[in-house]
Amino acid sequence: MTSEFGGMTLVAGCGVSGRAAARLAARLGIPFALLDEQDNDSLRAFAASLPQPPGAVYFGFRAQDALPRFDRIVLSPGFRAGNPVRAKLAESSGRLVGELEFALGSCGKPFVGITGTNGKTTTTELTAELFRAAGVRACACGNNGYAMSDAAIDCLDGKLDLPVVEISSFQLETMPVPHPAAAAVLNLASDHIDRHGSMEAYAAAKFKLLGDPAAVCVVNSLILDRFKPAAEQKFYTFSANLPADFTVRDGVLVFRGKGIIPVDKLVLQGIHNLENALAALALLTSVQGEDAVFDPAVIDSLAKFESGPHRLERFLTAGGVQYINDSKATNPHAVNAALAAVGGDRNVVILLGGLDKDMDFEELAPSLKHLKHAIVFGSCGQKIAAYLEKNAVPFSLCTTFPEAVEKAVAAASSGDVVLLSPATASMDMFRDYRDRGDQFKAFCRKFAAQGDTGMEQTAKPRV
Ligand code: ADP
Repeated sequence: MTSEFGGMTLVAGCGVSGRAAARLAARLGIPFALLDEQDNDSLRAFAASLPQPPGAVYFGFRAQDALPRFDRIVLSPGFRAGNPVRAKLAESSGRLVGELEFALGSCGKPFVGITGTNGKTTTTELTAELFRAAGVRACACGNNGYAMSDAAIDCLDGKLDLPVVEISSFQLETMPVPHPAAAAVLNLASDHIDRHGSMEAYAAAKFKLLGDPAAVCVVNSLILDRFKPAAEQKFYTFSANLPADFTVRDGVLVFRGKGIIPVDKLVLQGIHNLENALAALALLTSVQGEDAVFDPAVIDSLAKFESGPHRLERFLTAGGVQYINDSKATNPHAVNAALAAVGGDRNVVILLGGLDKDMDFEELAPSLKHLKHAIVFGSCGQKIAAYLEKNAVPFSLCTTFPEAVEKAVAAASSGDVVLLSPATASMDMFRDYRDRGDQFKAFCRKFAAQGDTGMEQTAKPRV
């Protein structure tokens, strides 16, 4: 048993990550209990399915209910600030830890950590892919349905050697400085300011990932001034445009001047994705040494790698219009990356809007030159509309999403792009960004079909 977590553990919140933490506690053989505000058959069946039964269950728990002392409480992110049960747990004697901290402290293997405002999922998956190509049993985990606790179980069972972990600013904010073998901060732009309070607090949370002097760090040259390495700390820089260890020169990805692969051999497109690729190569180098990126198997896997759905996903061409779903763009920085990749001279009809996170929409400035028309919707529609009006961008403000898509289809003509790249969170009108992207694709197909008979479904390429 390699866990640093002895004593009695309470897993508070039995959603996806809490259930994974409970499986890990059972695998570790440490005494644990389960708590949830709900009480239903699914929870009870889950508790009964664990290889080691919980010492106690507190299902249907209310803040006024009694609770014994625990050494630590693995707190689910589902218990938001202001939740009375969370307040009660915070007052109790046990130390609050997140699922990620619990799992990282238990897996007994080195890990690679990745954070940043945008590109975390893409870079985490690509980095894991490159390690696998180099012969390391690596796997992407954290935010892709494979919880770090399940990865820790696989490490303990001898099936996995290197978790490559996507880590959010919220997770970093509440955990002690982590101890990755290598870690990257990809970029930094306005996002989640509603929850962190300020850009400074948000940046500090991100850079906590690079706080262990023994970790080899990977930093975007653009934000190098925020990085305060310890004396003799090893680090690599990357950037598509600025001087860096990993950069692009004459259309080729290079490491300190030595060519790795021409840009036109990559399925990934867009400058932002080149930066994701450079960061992944730097992480591989950090762990495997400076020859690793020249391994033909690594280069081949980099060439073939595609980012996942809802990220600049080209899914339809109809009437000469290209339809692109970038629902995962939940801040202005990601929208700028999208328009830099697909925008021409005022040829983009963009759908913008949703749930604000106190973001600075002024950051959209570099994108405006590409916009033919903006279709604005969602709870911060007025705020975005005011910004567009000030900058003389033509826009339509819509109240429903079908209306927004219908107007976007009508506003586009042959040669244009219709792009959902909303710059906001989705939860005001949708279950999540996937639901938003799926609805967008369905409505585009419906409305484009009404005006066109020669539709062509394009599953690929994504950029
Ligand atoms: P995250 O996990 O950080 O949200 P994703 O890889 O899921 O990142 O991408 C989220 C959005 O950000 C997508 O719209 C994608 O096209 C865009 N994106 C990806 N990488 C970058 C980057 N390096 N810089 C800016 N935008 C990016």
